[in-house]
Amino acid sequence: MRLAERAKNISPSPTLAIDSQAKKMIADGIKVINFGAGEPDFDTPGHINQAAIKAINSGMTRYTPVAGIEPLRRAIADKLARDNGLRYDPGQIVVSAGAKHSLYNAFQVLCQEGDQVILPAPYWVSYLEQIKLAGAEPVIIRTRLENGFKMTPDELEEVITPQARAIVLNSPSNPTGAVYTREELEALGEVLLKHRIAIISDEIYEKLIYDGGRHTSIASLSPEIKEQTVVINGVSKSYAMTGWRIGYAAAPAHVAKAMADLQSHSTSNPTSIAQAASLEALQGDQKPVAAMVAEFAKRRDYMVERLNAMPGINCNRPGGAFYVFPEIKQLLGKSYRGTAINNASDLARVLLAEVHVAIVPGVAFGDDTCFRLSYATSMENIKEGMDRIERVINELA
Ligand SMILES: *Cc1c(COP(=O)(O)O)cnc(C)c1O
Repeated sequence: MRLAERAKNISPSPTLAIDSQAKKMIADGIKVINFGAGEPDFDTPGHINQAAIKAINSGMTRYTPVAGIEPLRRAIADKLARDNGLRYDPGQIVVSAGAKHSLYNAFQVLCQEGDQVILPAPYWVSYLEQIKLAGAEPVIIRTRLENGFKMTPDELEEVITPQARAIVLNSPSNPTGAVYTREELEALGEVLLKHRIAIISDEIYEKLIYDGGRHTSIASLSPEIKEQTVVINGVSKSYAMTGWRIGYAAAPAHVAKAMADLQSHSTSNPTSIAQAASLEALQGDQKPVAAMVAEFAKRRDYMVERLNAMPGINCNRPGGAFYVFPEIKQLLGKSYRGTAINNASDLARVLLAEVHVAIVPGVAFGDDTCFRLSYATSMENIKEGMDRIERVINELA
């Protein structure tokens, strides 16, 4: 049976591949320290679970409106007003099967053949594939560790062509944890407004910010920028709800309508009971979020300190999300017991095989001089994992 060109060009998610390889070793009885996780290691708070159980028992088990139940869309609109200073009508909110699905819908309705979409690297890998699936061409901006992995207005201006149709912003970032300040977003926003470039702003890590930092949604900077922006968010990361599959987009009315129309022919509505749980997540007790953030902050500090103490490893102290993204340029060309380390993929293979530590090489995010470690795992695991990595690094020759 022939596959369509579209299907042949899809690369499977490399982050999920490494995660599943590590999980397989664990299933085989090997004590793997897994730094590959792309999800919080906490359980969904009990009051949220209870809301879903209540929804099941009260018969909320049928189709819902395509873009989500009215109370949830209203709660999302309230959240955007309260947390982000954004005013949206519930009709401008589309709830989908995860933020990844919201992003997919956005690229599908905004981009087409001949368009370019600007993508700052290191990037979350699904952006690249989703841009290509929409027929558009990704245009990569390489950001640098010295800049905190943030693009500057000049770097942005440099890649803009008349075909540039949209840009992806992801602050706080996966994989780098970088958080753009309000001032930095204002400077970028000015360039984007001038060239009338649509902004797809993925704010899924909004709540996971450390050191008293603040999240700014670029859409909140001016009514003009808001008209040019699709805000993407969801409950997965903030409320430890990755398996529930609820994300959402807030957009100008005609864009929201197109996204809902598209969704009406693919997944219809997001799961009814997960919508009930998400409503409780947004409206209920927010203390579990703060507790999770406090724990993540401790782990991040410990990890960054340990990594920077290892020779040849250079690691930023990221402002958000739950990843660190250390660079290993000084180690490239060395070898471990005869195995050459020419990039982060080589290091990842050595770490998994020799000391049973799973990391995600930067090649997955467009930069294989770095690797990603998730600190969504226990402090005990982090300590053990850092010891193991250190043993390998110290033996490189
Ligand atoms: C996890 C993640 C998402 C997707 O979240 P879901 O709502 O679970 O689909 C989107 N963007 C980034 C950058 C992520 O890391």
